[in-house]
Amino acid sequence: MEKHWALVRCTCGSAFGSPRGARRACPHCGSTQGSESKFFESPDELSDAVAKSNLPDGIAQEVESKLSIQEAKAETKSTMSRGGPEAIRRILKQSTSSDGTLTVESLSRELLKEGYEEPTAERVIGSAELEGILIRKGPEAWIWLQ
Ligand SMILES: [Zn+2]
Repeated sequence: MEKHWALVRCTCGSAFGSPRGARRACPHCGSTQGSESKFFESPDELSDAVAKSNLPDGIAQEVESKLSIQEAKAETKSTMSRGGPEAIRRILKQSTSSDGTLTVESLSRELLKEGYEEPTAERVIGSAELEGILIRKGPEAWIWLQ
């Protein structure tokens, strides 16, 4: 069988299928400047190849969004370390009432008293929960695990 089907690489970076030599316009940008890079015997093979060729873009986007999540996490960490885990823990202790519970409100008050605008009480409690220091006791109250 002859290879009548072409995978066209457009200058815009997208790939699409076309009958060989047809110079079909790119469905992405409308350009006819694409170059036929691979040839196939059947439209099925061609559509597989087109799907694969366009895949890296999607993967790249996924990787990018994962990276930004990692950056956000790193930022949270550096914010915490600026206050210092010991300082944060001391403030947590100070915010704990005599019955051993801690609330966002009491923590906010202590953080402000110490001059912290960042991290917020919600964030400190969130981290403490993740680290297993605090456990949620009610809708607005936490108790110490350690
Ligand atoms: Zn294009």
